[in-house]
Amino acid sequence: MRQLLEEYIEKNRAIAVQGDVADYIPELRKVPINTLGATVATTEGDVVAAGDCSTEMTMQSVSKVITLILALIDHGEDTVFEHVGMEPTGDPFNSIYKLEMRREAKPLNPMINAGAIVVSSMIIGRNVEDRLERIMDLVREMSGNPDISYSREVYESESATGHRNRALGYFLKEHGVIEDVENVLDLYFRQCAIVVTCEDLAKVGLCLARDGRNMDGKQVIPRDITRLVKTFMVTCGMYDASGEFAIRVGIPAKSGVSGAIMASVPNRMGIGVIGPALNKQGNSIAGVKLLQDLAREWRLSIF
Ligand code: GLN
Repeated sequence: MRQLLEEYIEKNRAIAVQGDVADYIPELRKVPINTLGATVATTEGDVVAAGDCSTEMTMQSVSKVITLILALIDHGEDTVFEHVGMEPTGDPFNSIYKLEMRREAKPLNPMINAGAIVVSSMIIGRNVEDRLERIMDLVREMSGNPDISYSREVYESESATGHRNRALGYFLKEHGVIEDVENVLDLYFRQCAIVVTCEDLAKVGLCLARDGRNMDGKQVIPRDITRLVKTFMVTCGMYDASGEFAIRVGIPAKSGVSGAIMASVPNRMGIGVIGPALNKQGNSIAGVKLLQDLAREWRLSIF
């Protein structure tokens, strides 16, 4: 398995130069464009890593899965989906378009920025630090890595330049969807800056693949919630490329602009990928191709 993973990584590394590293968050520019690595964690307990798998990255939008889980634990399905919808948008992840065009200012789903900002506003805690700690605790439990923390540099970098997200936040505030907008945005920027490796992402994916049980066999998320978030990963996890990804790869997955991809193959494995060169939709250009190769080779499609 390791040799195959290594071969596919080297094959796809060449594609990376066709993409671009996200530059609207200045700190993200610092990673070499041809970085590509992956870790696979299986239900049998094997952890196989290859390429630049030990390069650290921030979770960025992968954190949207974690906050959705936490909001569902905190409030239950009915309340959460009063505030955020369940439909893919077909628009870029940071688009404001549908929010303004629809009668209600209710974001279409929790995997786009507007939806994730609303979800973050629902996390229970005394203050921003406390809420962030709860989010990081869930990542720690799912990944089995007690050392998970966040990058102050990336957080500050996005906080200083995240004008579009501020616009989304203030639009939502104007419509009474969120209240404490600066604190909500502060939490959102921090959760995006949580630092992980491919192994952490693979184990988060594995925990979902095992219906909420982590590597130690502990049930850390209710099973129903894992079904729900995996479905969102299929329909909305790769932004406006989710349809194509479902057809070509066929695995629940969530990407982030750091080049992170967390994939979960039900009852089989979690896969964590780093590949910071992005395609037009903001997904790792080489990472998507790598997953496509692995899915074909190992017959991973759930369809
Ligand atoms: N922090 C990023 C943003 O809000 C996350 C987006 C992403 O990973 N697609 O723009």
